[in-house]
Amino acid sequence: MKKLLIANRGEIAVRLIRAAKELGIKTVAIFAKEDEFAVHRFKADEAYQVGAGKAPIAAYLDIDDIIRIAKQAGADAIHPGYGFLSENADFVAAVEAAGIKFVGPKVEHLKMFGDKIVAKQTAIKADVPTVPGTDHPVADVAEALAFGETHGYPLFVKSAAGGGGRGMRVVEHAEELKEAFERAASEAQQSFGKPDIYLEKYLKDPQHVEIQILADEHGEVMHLFERDSSVQRRHQKIIEFAPAVSVSVNMRQRIQDAALRLMRSVDYQNAGTVEFLVEGDNFYFIEVNPRVQVEHTVTEEVTGVDIVKSQLLIAQGYRLHEAPLNIPMQDQLTANGVAIQSRITTEDPANDFMPDTGKIEWYRSPGGTGVRLDAGNVFAGATVTPYFDSLLVKLVTRGSDFTAAVDKMQRALDEFVIRGVKTNIPFLKNVFAHPTFRSASAPTTFVDKHTELFE
Ligand code: ADP
Repeated sequence: MKKLLIANRGEIAVRLIRAAKELGIKTVAIFAKEDEFAVHRFKADEAYQVGAGKAPIAAYLDIDDIIRIAKQAGADAIHPGYGFLSENADFVAAVEAAGIKFVGPKVEHLKMFGDKIVAKQTAIKADVPTVPGTDHPVADVAEALAFGETHGYPLFVKSAAGGGGRGMRVVEHAEELKEAFERAASEAQQSFGKPDIYLEKYLKDPQHVEIQILADEHGEVMHLFERDSSVQRRHQKIIEFAPAVSVSVNMRQRIQDAALRLMRSVDYQNAGTVEFLVEGDNFYFIEVNPRVQVEHTVTEEVTGVDIVKSQLLIAQGYRLHEAPLNIPMQDQLTANGVAIQSRITTEDPANDFMPDTGKIEWYRSPGGTGVRLDAGNVFAGATVTPYFDSLLVKLVTRGSDFTAAVDKMQRALDEFVIRGVKTNIPFLKNVFAHPTFRSASAPTTFVDKHTELFE
């Protein structure tokens, strides 16, 4: 790999450029017109406008234009980051057809995990427990009602093609089911081009625990322990930490084993995450994210393994436990201390916490031992546009244990000054001071139940 095209923007584009540079790989950035002055294009060795004439997000989804730029620039590999085209099987097929290496799993993996029903069937085949529910597209309202009869309410109506917290709907009573089912199916058809709907029992207060997987192209699959991503708002993650300290060691082991079983059963390649919900003595598979995740940082901090560099080396055919990767064998790998990540986003409390935009007038970031920052186009004078997602910067702190990491997070948030756009820093400070969060066992419903966190 000599030259890597980065098919993304923002903080993850910068993260990927950094990893490539450290490996001596040249980088090619792409940018939409609206990102003309964005930092990621200047950090790369070369940069080209993509999707001219298209809307901002559509520009980054322009497969033909990305392949054109890659060929023109002589890139021999493409990393998709997360979001955008990262889970698009057609994109991977197009990249491979152009003779370019896709940094990620194989087309077949994106297909099987891109459809959550197929993913569930795959988990069941690998003897991995799934949330009680249907393991096939529900045919009609009558079948949905029969499921409700048997399993009770509330239940979750989910779209097979959904993602990022979209395409899910909680149904509290049988009377609501008909409408919810029909709306979900038509929305799924509109948003994802596929009407398939399935049902799951709605778990009351689960924790979200996910296993980081790395797999090379020679059949070696390992895990890098787990993350707790329970702190969510409307099913979207806000705070993540590693390891999942409030889950028993025995339970963590069982979840790690299940994740390995699943990923080995499909001969998985490169980085991926297997997500579970944990409730009492049970754990249940929910989905696989076949890509690098926003919260990969916390795993890097506790294991010392650079996940993005690993992805680039795996894609070049290197083996997990040999040079240049040199990742310790599974039973030798340890997680040291605890790392926590806060997703600092723009949001305006006066406008229903919608993303805020404008010029960053003042920016002073925290520092010192145990503090890590991953930012995109964020500095005094930068303009936050309304076109893309509202993530400004990821703040990660590491401590010898959970409390030390939380204390450090509070100190770092106190140091952080961002003026000109409104951010969720006041909200984050409330979370880190809350006894439920400080117990390390906040369930996925924590934020939505505690409206005082937004005051
Ligand atoms: P997405 O792909 O949109 O992220 P997921 O299936 O990963 O959707 O679920 C996202 C979040 O939604 C989970 O972390 C959890 O908080 C909640 N969730 C999903 N399924 C269930 C369920 N059956 N019961 C309770 N909560 C659920």
